[in-house]
Amino acid sequence: MKYETVIGLEVHLQLATQTKVFCGCSTKFGQRPNSQTCPVCLGFPGSLPVLNEEAFYFSIKVALALNCQIQNLIKFDRKNYYYPDLPKNFQISQYDMPLSYNGVVYIAPQGSGERKRVRVKRVHLEEDAGKLVHPERENYSLVDFNRSGVPLLEIVTEPDIASTEEAYDYLVRLKSILKYLKVSDCDMEKGSLRCDANISVRPIGEEALGTKVELKNMNTFKGVRLALEYETKRQIGLAQEGEKIIQETRLWDSEKQITTSMRSKEEAQDYRYFPEPDLVPFVVDNAVIEKIKNSLPELPEAKANRFISEFGLSEYDAGVLTSQIDIADYFEECVKLYPNPKTVANWVTGDIMAQLNARNITMDELDVLPSSLTEILKMIESGVISGKMAKELLLESIETKSRPEDIVKKKDLFQISDTAKLEKMAKAVLKREKKSVRDYKSGKTNALAFLVGQIMRQTKGKANPAIVNEILKKELEG
Ligand SMILES: [Zn+2]
Repeated sequence: MKYETVIGLEVHLQLATQTKVFCGCSTKFGQRPNSQTCPVCLGFPGSLPVLNEEAFYFSIKVALALNCQIQNLIKFDRKNYYYPDLPKNFQISQYDMPLSYNGVVYIAPQGSGERKRVRVKRVHLEEDAGKLVHPERENYSLVDFNRSGVPLLEIVTEPDIASTEEAYDYLVRLKSILKYLKVSDCDMEKGSLRCDANISVRPIGEEALGTKVELKNMNTFKGVRLALEYETKRQIGLAQEGEKIIQETRLWDSEKQITTSMRSKEEAQDYRYFPEPDLVPFVVDNAVIEKIKNSLPELPEAKANRFISEFGLSEYDAGVLTSQIDIADYFEECVKLYPNPKTVANWVTGDIMAQLNARNITMDELDVLPSSLTEILKMIESGVISGKMAKELLLESIETKSRPEDIVKKKDLFQISDTAKLEKMAKAVLKREKKSVRDYKSGKTNALAFLVGQIMRQTKGKANPAIVNEILKKELEG
């Protein structure tokens, strides 16, 4: 029997507001433990939450960008559970009246060539819990409440994802959209973006969903992919042997590369949800929603389509360039300075992105101004430097953080295109390399490459190879 995988993803996103969602404490990351707390986020009796307007607007922005319907009446609820990092013993979340439902994200996993809809079931706003710290080799744990009350957006999909590749593609595209919106740094290492998954398997053709397992503790997109792959195999293995799959929460162990059982999964009723009495349900004015809608930036898909129609780029290049907002912005800045979009696209998707990957850094950290790259491109065009020199120049400009023009001047890297000078050199080489000249004349045309190489070596690569080639040919055949 053949099986198929059914996956739903749940992303938690910390919103990059200045202050927490229900109090005025700072959300700044990496500060001294418990230095950013107050009676509200420590859950003191009698303290009252006040909704952060910016957090609310950011949430609406995300919901709209994910094509969700904003609900007219919005309510917060208490989700009750005990955990040491949750001092109130409940989390303010949203249960039956979240801020939005029914969105969609389009994915197109590499190699599939198809565009697929992943429905977004809901997007709701809640507060983050504190953070437990477990010192190594100690028999106690510590708790840091700086994170308690940081605004957290929960983005839940329907079980529309059918493979690990689709799950990965969804996450990459979702993150791209979120970064465009500038509502979060989406930094998984800092925990700003976290992902849980629900996964089940069923025989192909079966309508009913299999028993689902919730996966947690996947701290990277790669971890999500590996955990889903592992879990797919585990569940299909159990199903094929006729064994029962238990509904439970399992943790991904990135070291051992396995999932292990954590606890049986709670059902919604276990949380005893009830309306948060300190935050009244409220109505959002349509005019407010309209205003936020109009403030949305151009999103990745729309930008990619524009790059194709406006700049004549291929679908692939447009997709790569718009996958990250800072790369798209960089590309457009460059095109403004050097209006040859295809050349710029080749350099950005090629050499520039290779540097980002090799150094594992972002565009901001790369420190090559658009004006520096376009300066290099202009120098190639005018024949000042060769394409090969340009690549080296870019690298040196990145490493020394200096302007390409200054490097060229300082190191005298100008390409030699002076025909008279090159002709003189060519004659000297032909006089010296008699054997190669004979070879060439007897039909061994690859002797020409050797002769070109001699001049390139003599000029330390600075001679314009096209001109050298032409001159030598003329001399040999003339
Ligand atoms: Zn506080």
